[in-house]
This record gives sequence, C-alpha cells and structure tokens, in this order.
Amino acid sequence: MEQLRVDLGERSYDIKVGYDILSKVGEYLKELNLGSKVLIITNELVDSLYGREVEQAVEEAGFEVNIAKIGDGEKYKSLDTARELYDQAVEANLDRSSTIVALGGGVVGDIAGFIASTYMRGVNFVQIPTTVLSQVDSSVGGKVAVNHPQGKNLIGAFYQPKLVVADIKVLKTLEERQLKAGLAEVIKYGVIWDEEFFNFLANNRNKILGLDTNTMEYLLKRCCEIKAEVVARDERELGLRAILNYGHTIGHALEAVTDYQRFVHGEGVAIGMVAAAKLANKIGILNGTDVEKQEELIKEFGLPVSFEGLNIESIMKALAKDKKVKDGMVRFILAEEIGQVVIKSDLPHNIIREVLEELRG
Ligand code: NAD
Ligand code: MG
Repeated sequence: MEQLRVDLGERSYDIKVGYDILSKVGEYLKELNLGSKVLIITNELVDSLYGREVEQAVEEAGFEVNIAKIGDGEKYKSLDTARELYDQAVEANLDRSSTIVALGGGVVGDIAGFIASTYMRGVNFVQIPTTVLSQVDSSVGGKVAVNHPQGKNLIGAFYQPKLVVADIKVLKTLEERQLKAGLAEVIKYGVIWDEEFFNFLANNRNKILGLDTNTMEYLLKRCCEIKAEVVARDERELGLRAILNYGHTIGHALEAVTDYQRFVHGEGVAIGMVAAAKLANKIGILNGTDVEKQEELIKEFGLPVSFEGLNIESIMKALAKDKKVKDGMVRFILAEEIGQVVIKSDLPHNIIREVLEELRG
C-alpha cells in the first residue's frame, strides 16, 4: 500500500492507495477518532458491487451505519437528489460528529461532499473513489458540488475530506471506456507537471491497461501528489490551479456541442490535449516531437485524437461561452515542453479554427 499526506495545515489528510483495501476502511475510520455514526452515500451499481464489503468493515469497527443510494449518472448530481440525501441524513440522526462516506465515482463523491459540507454546517467527510477519474482527480482538491439546470457544478463549496481510500481492485469492474477516460486525466498530469511520469506512462501501457498492482499504486499516488501539490499552492483557484484544465478548453466545447452525448469527459479531454499541443506548436512554443509524443500516448491508451463531422463555428461559439473566458478572451493552457505549461489568453481565432479543421478527421 502507498500513502500520501496532503498538507493543508489543519485540514491535512491522508490518501491511501492499495489493492483490496475496502475491508480495512473500518479500521481507518477508527484511527481518525470520528463520531459513532456513518452514512455511506453510493449509487445502486456501486452498492451492489462493493456496498456490503464497506458496510461490514465499518460496522465491525463499531460504527452505526446507514446507506443512502442515489441514481446512476450525472443527472442525479442535483439539488433534488441533495434534498433526498438531507432527509436521509436527518432520518439517520447524523450529528455534527458523524461521518459521510462517499463510495463511488465523481458523481457520488461530488454530491456526497456537498452534503457533508452543508449538513449541520459541515460533518466529517471520507472519500472512497471507485473510478480512475475519481481516484486521480475529483477526490483530491476539495471541490464539492451539485449541478444546476443552467450549468455544471454551479452550486458547491471547497471542503476537504478527512481521508481518501483508493482501492485498485475495484477498477476491475469498470467499463473499459470509463477506465480509458480516466487515463486521459492521468496523461494530463504528465504533460502539465512531470516529464518523467509522462515517460513512465508511455513505457508501461500494458501494465496500466491490465491494472497491474504495483504500476497502478505508483500511478495513482503520483497523480494525487501532483494534483495535491498544485492545489496546495492554489487551494481556492486563483491562479496555478488553472493548469489542471489542460486539454479541457476544447474538450469542454466538444462535449457541449454534442450535448454531452457523444464523448465521455475524458475523451473530450483527450482530443482537447491534442488540440492544445497543436496550438502550442503553431504559435511556436512547443516542438513537433512533443506534439507527436502526446498524440501517440493518447492513441496508445485507446483514446480519440480527432473527431468527425462537427461544425467548426459551433465549436468556436461553445469556446466563447466557456467559463474560462476572461474579458472575452478564451484561456488556453499550453505546453512549452512536456512537463511545463503556460496560460495563454490571446490566441488568434484563425489559429484555433485551423487546428479544429485539422482535428476533424
Ligand atoms: P461517474 O461517477 O458517473 O462514474 C462513471 C460510471 O462508472 C457510473 O456509471 C458509475 O456507476 C460507474 N462505476 C463507478 N465505480 C465503478 C466500479 N468500481 N465498477 C463499475 N462501475 C463503476 O463518473 P466519474 O467519471 O467517476 O466522475 C465524473 C464526475 O466527477 C462529474 O460529475 C464531474 O463534474 C466530477 N468531477 C469533479 C472534480 C472535482 O474536483 N470535484 C474533478 C473532476 C470531475
Ligand atoms: Mg476533467
């Protein structure tokens, strides 16, 4: 098992990464000296796969356990679902010393964290992320939220967990598409922060796709370390944290123009990273070899590097609407080399169009 301390003063916490560690969650909670009641928030699918194991572990450690299940999918990350969860928290008699445990992917983690941050002005929060994306991204950094019909994550807070437990074993039941989508965010960390890690990914493709334990322990830990480091320097997203959006500017626009139906998030990010690499090359800050390396790795992980049939002007419009727009300028995170990025907001529109044309296979 690997362990990582996220250093945020009084709000510091550990991330535990290992294989088959769900049965230890009870002990971990006990070590934290939390109150006696635990509400596990999960969804139907994850509950059917892992609910009993976690429930039993927590009960055996002496906690009183309740389980609240939400529907499966982004549309359940809503205020309606939140209201039902508050009811269940009240019914379970949770008090200020109680703990909410999120067991699931980013949807469950985000809404469970939102409940934990607001119920009685905040109760203990523990994350058991069960997708690659949630293990390397959403469970680290303290952002919790629900969606509003007018926009994703419009209602939320910054709220840190007391503990994150990432079990590699649970990734075996993930759909392949979800596994690969999570790996897009993994590649992102290499490009924005760590060339050596990028090379490690390129050299260990089969082990990663086969979920080899040692390889995944290192991979998950390194991603969390990078995110934690970026977040620690910019907890409330005033500057540096924006680099975590590498590949997301065009990625989000592609998701938006296809009504979030065609691409899963990581696929949008994959194409967005290729776009960002090409843009950086066109404005003369990134060499061609580093563009090819990124495109190659993204392909090797079974992720898309181009798209078909979308209207370029609609993508340009979607870009202009993005929340990363500041004073009318679309902000891009661009690499100068692998492991080093800069924020640019003055890219000529014709260059963006050109790159989009190239990407449209
Ligand atoms: P998700 O939570 O919808 O999970 C994807 C699918 O996998 C779901 O159908 C889920 O039921 C299923 N699943 C989960 N674990 C499984 C397992 N072990 N085996 C089999 N199936 C499993 O999606 P996600 O990609 O994990 O998270 C996306 C969400 O995360 C979005 O709402 C996004 O806004 C949010 N997010 C938040 C942050 C943050 O900083 N808080 C960062 C990135 C993304
Ligand atoms: Mg993302």
